[in-house]
Amino acid sequence: MSEAKPICSAKGCRADAVWVLAWNNPKLHTPERRKTWLACEEHREHLSQFLGVRGFLKDVVLLGDWESGSEGSAGSAADR
Ligand SMILES: [Zn+2]
Repeated sequence: MSEAKPICSAKGCRADAVWVLAWNNPKLHTPERRKTWLACEEHREHLSQFLGVRGFLKDVVLLGDWESGSEGSAGSAADR
């Protein structure tokens, strides 16, 4: 087993990741490119706001849904 348990991307946080934040910086990335941050329940809002105010945030998806592929998640998992 080489797969480490995914943890939150927030600085100093070691909590298990629950959410995947998919984002794109149009200055650095082509439009279809997706960078991902992982977030625990506590930091999801903080991290998505950080990306959101910069206009980078594309999607917020439950980690389980993200790993099982995009099938069955037509539409947006982002809140609002
Ligand atoms: Zn966290």
